Amino acid sequence: MLQVKDVQKSFGHFQAIIRANLDVRRGEIVAVIGPNGAGKSTLFKIISGHLKPDRGKILFRDRDITSLEPHQICRQGVSLSYQIVNVFSRLTVFENVQVSVLSRLGKAFDFFTPAKGLAIDETEKILDSVGLGNVGDRICGALSHGEQKVLEIAIALGSNPELLILDEPTAGMAQEETSATIKLLERLNHEGLTILFCEHDIELVFSFANRIMVMQQGVSIIQGPPHQVRENREVREAYLGGA
Ligand code: ADP
Ligand code: MG
Repeated sequence: MLQVKDVQKSFGHFQAIIRANLDVRRGEIVAVIGPNGAGKSTLFKIISGHLKPDRGKILFRDRDITSLEPHQICRQGVSLSYQIVNVFSRLTVFENVQVSVLSRLGKAFDFFTPAKGLAIDETEKILDSVGLGNVGDRICGALSHGEQKVLEIAIALGSNPELLILDEPTAGMAQEETSATIKLLERLNHEGLTILFCEHDIELVFSFANRIMVMQQGVSIIQGPPHQVRENREVREAYLGGA
């Protein structure tokens, strides 16, 4: 479904990504792991079109999307949910997801189009599916951190993606919120959504992902199923502390 081929990205003289390769098959849950600064977020921004690589290619369903704009990539079926809590904090939960659904349908909020009555059913369906159905009329700023992170997933779902990319979806969550979020992502995956994510919690990654790609200092050093990655000597030394 997705192929990242020999991607390279510098910021000034600094090579954030020296060489990254990644492939994601339809229906998979793929994790990218690696220490802080390894280039994971940069890679996700390149895949979603928010950054352009200096070299290399991104193919989605065999189509070269490297030079497309973020909204075009989103239209192709790739949706990125950000690491930073990225919601319009003065809109309600419902409105945030509704904006996302409407922008997919090509109807943005503006001064001339009363949008309140649009896309109600679909918005409600998404909120129910992520477990936020009962807080739809709350102002986003009033949600807990965990709820805001789930809302980011709901907003990403508003574009009806085939591939959902999540940058640290459980960052800062309490244990219970983390397991609920993982359950949610597993269910979405069962319903057909392909998931690419990065995450700090290694145990969680190894129990949740079908395949894992390891990045280190801007280089993707291995991609494979959990048992294969666990056994890799380079990974053990660099990342799992040799244990
Ligand atoms: P990760 O998500 O794996 O922690 P990032 O992709 O955020 O890593 O960052 C990789 C490296 O690139 C880091 O050293 C970071 O400081 C640097 N970097 C990221 N974005 C920028 C930017 N816009 N300008 C300059 N350096 C950046
Ligand atoms: Mg990051």
